[in-house]
Amino acid sequence: MKALIIGGGIAGLTAAIAMRQRNIEVLVLEQAARPTEIGAGIQIAANGSKVLRALGIEQAVANCAVIPEAMENRDMLTGNLVWRIPLGREAAALWGAPLYNIHRADLIELLAKAVPDGCVEFGVRSPVSSRMKKRSASGPRTGAPMRPIS
Ligand SMILES: Cc1cc2nc3c(=O)[nH]c(=O)nc-3n(C[C@H](O)[C@H](O)[C@H](O)COP(=O)(O)OP(=O)(O)OC[C@H]3O[C@@H](n4cnc5c(N)ncnc54)[C@H](O)[C@@H]3O)c2cc1C
Repeated sequence: MKALIIGGGIAGLTAAIAMRQRNIEVLVLEQAARPTEIGAGIQIAANGSKVLRALGIEQAVANCAVIPEAMENRDMLTGNLVWRIPLGREAAALWGAPLYNIHRADLIELLAKAVPDGCVEFGVRSPVSSRMKKRSASGPRTGAPMRPIS
């Protein structure tokens, strides 16, 4: 089987790593000229941490991330604690994996490194929407009707 993934963001790269580990040939087409991620931090909740673990890159992520102890909500006038959600060890024990806070650029870099060479083509903008329009105009062969992308 050969898979084509449009977009080398968090989802596309993660899917590519998982497919390669299952011996599925994969090509990721990313419009950006190189791996980039705009933004600041991202929280990876326990379910996401378990995916990284299954892909064998949790430790690499942990090395660049922090595990917050808790999320606290406080009264802005008094500073009194309103509610507290324990994270850290307590949450890791409950959910089976910790919640990590990591910079997006670090996450993308780690994911990109884990994708085997030659699986990602940068600077390729796939005309996904125009193909969808074309197929929609001629009508689907089977299944539910497709709606054109405006
Ligand atoms: C402000 C903000 C805060 C967030 N905080 C969190 C958080 O703390 N925790 C969390 O789990 N999630 C968070 N999210 C959500 C998270 O960022 C997204 O779920 C995640 O980035 C989606 O990944 P993706 O790969 O689907 O999309 P993206 O990361 O957007 O990647 C899409 C990629 O596809 C490429 N692309 C698009 N069109 C084409 C094309 N036609 N051809 C080729 N390439 C193309 C783009 O260049 C891009 O690289 C947050 C989102 C926002 C906006």
